[in-house]
Amino acid sequence: MTSHKVRVRIAPSPTGHLHLGTARTALYNYLFALKEKGDFVLRLEDTDEVRSDEAFTDDILSGLKWLGINWTEGPDVGGPYKPYRQTEKTDHYEHVANKLISEGKAYFCYASPEELDALREEQKQRDEKPGYDNRGRNYTQEQVEKFVAEGRIPVIRFKVEDDRVVSWNDAIKGEIQIHTSDIGGDMVIVKSSGIAIYNFAVVVDDLDMKMTHIIRGEDHIHNTAKQILLYEALGANLPVFAHVPLIFDLERAKLSKRKHGEAVHISKYRNDGYMPEALMNYLAQMSWTPPEGKEIFTVEEAGQMFDLDKVSKSPAVFDTKRLDWFNAHYIRTLPLDVVTDRCLPFLGEYDLDQYSRPELEQIISVVRDGLTMLKEVKDASSYFFADKIQISEELSSGLLKQESSRKVLSKVCESLGQFPWGDPKGCKAVVDAIGKELGVKGKDLYWPVRAALCGSTSGPDLGATLSILGEKRVRTRIESLLQPC
Ligand code: GLU
Repeated sequence: MTSHKVRVRIAPSPTGHLHLGTARTALYNYLFALKEKGDFVLRLEDTDEVRSDEAFTDDILSGLKWLGINWTEGPDVGGPYKPYRQTEKTDHYEHVANKLISEGKAYFCYASPEELDALREEQKQRDEKPGYDNRGRNYTQEQVEKFVAEGRIPVIRFKVEDDRVVSWNDAIKGEIQIHTSDIGGDMVIVKSSGIAIYNFAVVVDDLDMKMTHIIRGEDHIHNTAKQILLYEALGANLPVFAHVPLIFDLERAKLSKRKHGEAVHISKYRNDGYMPEALMNYLAQMSWTPPEGKEIFTVEEAGQMFDLDKVSKSPAVFDTKRLDWFNAHYIRTLPLDVVTDRCLPFLGEYDLDQYSRPELEQIISVVRDGLTMLKEVKDASSYFFADKIQISEELSSGLLKQESSRKVLSKVCESLGQFPWGDPKGCKAVVDAIGKELGVKGKDLYWPVRAALCGSTSGPDLGATLSILGEKRVRTRIESLLQPC
């Protein structure tokens, strides 16, 4: 098996937004394909006609691309590739199911929903495990004719061996054994609507597409046991299975839409201004330990290093603080023009045209060190865009009322003609010279200027702030405090 070219896939169902867990599984598949120089396929398991939605498909596709996860083939020729879709293969699944019927490995089951409900109720009364009792295996010809005459439309069930341990050596979890008594009886593979059930369609597809490794979430372990029985019935070799641990929150609760809301969706992180590089690094390291303590890397670099053996068996813990650390790192260190481009959508409410592109980049360069998420750039840079600065009561009746502060501000206002606008160091030097002349320094000198310009005594470099704001804005802000200066 391993002598074949490695082929892996991610097979999301478009019944919801791209989930963090799906994104991490997709990433591990992609990294494994990069490492093994194999193929990575995106297949949409869109057979749930009620819950599937094109809006979710768009969200999944764009989320994966945003994270830098690129599928390497599709049903079309030449990229960018469309995903494969199960709904395009309905007839094929039915054909394979009929083959199983003709070989006596599957059969039509006419049990009505009411009958199955009654069975479940009886099992509950008797304190038995819930499950189908395989009654359809023994229908007589007369029974079948009666069901057909009643207009019942059958499902197709696959015969599950009664007393069998299904086992495999999982590439992450090690040896796994599941007894067929825990599988719930003969399983439906095609619904009465003619739509194939996940466990069946997935096996047919993984075989058709010659998948060599199935890397997916641990929640599929029982499904894997069912699928192994189907591989055997179809006379096929098994792929390698690798089950990635589930993700929990810091209180050890499973990450779920119900408990964590939008925080389980990639779109939330995109909208909040997380960098795809940060989320990718974080997701990669949620359950995988890269060699030599490496923490920061590109997708391609991760692809060189990835190793299924270094994926943990234990649950992953979602820790926003760590994600924030990665994000702040990328906001600080990615090229300024890239960070500026990504910040601009968050500044849409401001009149951006008042600044040139180099000035906008300067604004981002002075505020980016303080950001954890790009959405914070709006507040962090507000004083560059505001027509009027909000001064708190505390500042206006305190610091800005003091004689020495007013002297500093008057002098700055008088000296505006001497500031070398566009030159942060030069602007700072003029303020320092004013301080020298007035005999004030340190916070007595800088705080009033900063407060007048930004409405706060703390903030980014004063020289840069002055230099970017320019003469007109600085004059307006100081004059509005001194009236007139
Ligand atoms: N549609 C399944 C899911 O989203 C795919 C599981 C698999 O990889 O087989 O969980």
